[in-house]
Amino acid sequence: MERKRESEISVISVTSENPSSFRLFRFLFRAFILCAPIIINFPINGKPQPRQPRVGRKYTTLERLEPERLRAVREERLRYQSSRKTPTLITGFEDYRAIMHAHAEDSSHTGGTRSELLTAAKQAGVRIILLSDHVRPPRDFISQSWHGIREGVLFIPGAESEGFIVHPTRSIISSYTNKNWKTRDGYIRLVKQDGGLIFLSHVEEKLDWGTAELDGLEIYNHHTDFMDEGEFVLWLRGSFTNPERLKRVQQILTEFPMEVFGASQDYLSQIIAKWDRDLEVQSLTGIAANDCHHNQVFTINAAGPDAIVISIVGDPPRKVTAQQSPQITEMVKDRKEGDLIARLDFDPYERSLSYVTTHILLRKYNEKSVREALKQGHAYVAHDWLCDPTGFAFIAERNDKQRAIMGDQVILEKGLRLRLAAPVIGTIKLFRNGIVIGESKSDKLIFNLNEAGVYRAEVWLEIDGEQRPWIYANPIRVVNENTKQTKTKREYETNENNETNEKA
Ligand SMILES: [Zn+2]
Ligand SMILES: [Zn+2]
Repeated sequence: MERKRESEISVISVTSENPSSFRLFRFLFRAFILCAPIIINFPINGKPQPRQPRVGRKYTTLERLEPERLRAVREERLRYQSSRKTPTLITGFEDYRAIMHAHAEDSSHTGGTRSELLTAAKQAGVRIILLSDHVRPPRDFISQSWHGIREGVLFIPGAESEGFIVHPTRSIISSYTNKNWKTRDGYIRLVKQDGGLIFLSHVEEKLDWGTAELDGLEIYNHHTDFMDEGEFVLWLRGSFTNPERLKRVQQILTEFPMEVFGASQDYLSQIIAKWDRDLEVQSLTGIAANDCHHNQVFTINAAGPDAIVISIVGDPPRKVTAQQSPQITEMVKDRKEGDLIARLDFDPYERSLSYVTTHILLRKYNEKSVREALKQGHAYVAHDWLCDPTGFAFIAERNDKQRAIMGDQVILEKGLRLRLAAPVIGTIKLFRNGIVIGESKSDKLIFNLNEAGVYRAEVWLEIDGEQRPWIYANPIRVVNENTKQTKTKREYETNENNETNEKA
């Protein structure tokens, strides 16, 4: 996420319209430091209004951060993980965990490096990383990035630019510098020539943008999800000058790092609604944006007998004195100038890479196949942190023969049916043209088709009494025989592997 717009903000606004969560986070942090004397008595009046209803929630994020809640979430997700069974529905494709929208070494506000990202990928079982550098000419986000397989992880360079995630097949930096395109469509064409990929990014800011020429959009973006976390941000900000609360934050972060990371997880209804609307007229691959930077790292050091210094990646350190916040005296007691009081690291890559991923279905593990799969929608989005979804399948079949996988288009014929298989039992929601047409608690689903439409599925898990979105399948488009195919889709290619078989 760019941070240009931060400097334009000069008032404190908890229910900010500010488009980026971490912009908000950083902004609030900065506002605190700059306005400390005022802020100390700044009341948290009620709760900031969430931007949209929080589907499936029972608890606020602060409630989710209570140790007993975190412990319950931990136990529940371990229970799911230990009971999982890889689905036996064979599709002929391998399921690869991929990270899209990843930042490393691309800006002053990115704290992480590419080698750190690689290490984390290996830990998290991620085999594909699509880098999305902030564009900083003359630095070339294609030729000066990582490209190809390194230690078993395939890197595809790209950028976050002009509202999109772009992965051109060759350098476009000179066109970029010279602004060789005149319109948004011109930019899309520039990226797409020779097989480049382009996805709409931070969709919450672009609900009215056209998507006809795009390969897809981010149906989940971690930053977007964080945007309505004003209450948590205020609470965290307060902990920097409150020794008792700071200790609590350190404790939960040490004991439940992944659960703390996942505490803000929500379903982004507005974005999903746009996806459903646009899907009615064209194909559009839903992907997950990690938007990881490894930059939510707060360091608090003693600065003499009555002050502390608070540092965050990409910002100059800020000093807060005991006059501004009396409890600072207690925090610096028995400490020397420069002593570390606390370091809170919320988003190391291994954590963000374990949180949400795009699973890509491939027959061959190479860049060409990844690009093709992402264009076709042979992919699904999953919150892997809740339970490993690997092997999840959503297909159309007829007479026990597979006719389509996620992302494909298939002609409606008598006997055509949808099948879904997940590694654990959850709430399966089947959608037709954006409307739920069936909901069941199971790890599998069979649905006889007798109507054309765009069919997609979600699987939700019950975690500590709440419903959390877990898997978002890309749609299968069922068309009548005389309907023209949508322009970006090919009919499902048949090959010797596409029969539906059950594993022994
Ligand atoms: Zn950024
Ligand atoms: Zn970003």
